[in-house]
Amino acid sequence: MALAEAVKLTCATCGQGNRVPMSRLAEGPKCGVCGAALVDGQVAELDATTHDKVTKEAGLPVLIDYWAPWCGPCRMMAPEFAKAAKALAPSVRLMKLNTEDHPQISARAGIRGIPALILYKGGREVARLAGARPAADIIAFARQHSTG
Ligand SMILES: [Zn+2]
Repeated sequence: MALAEAVKLTCATCGQGNRVPMSRLAEGPKCGVCGAALVDGQVAELDATTHDKVTKEAGLPVLIDYWAPWCGPCRMMAPEFAKAAKALAPSVRLMKLNTEDHPQISARAGIRGIPALILYKGGREVARLAGARPAADIIAFARQHSTG
């Protein structure tokens, strides 16, 4: 019997790597360690450790919103990003990183202004989008760069 095709998904809450069969992605898979949803259309909040794990994973494409609480455009975009997360599930996972709490990460990523969106696929950055965008733009950007 052939092994079912599976993807490795890092839990954004505890950092555990989970293997999920492709056929079960739409069934709301949960982390085997902490029980957090792995692909549920919600925007997961990352810390420095989980950020580095999800951006290096070879599983599903991950779109990260680099934001900060003092940034007005970031707060304006948050509901749009949340809408995009629902629309893109389960093929792209959307997450956010607070650059005020984790300035070393935004410095390493070369982010000069926020909000900034970076799409990671196959363990590396494939595209970035600067500035606050409506959900439709975020969805189009993610689809354009995550397929193929
Ligand atoms: Zn977990």
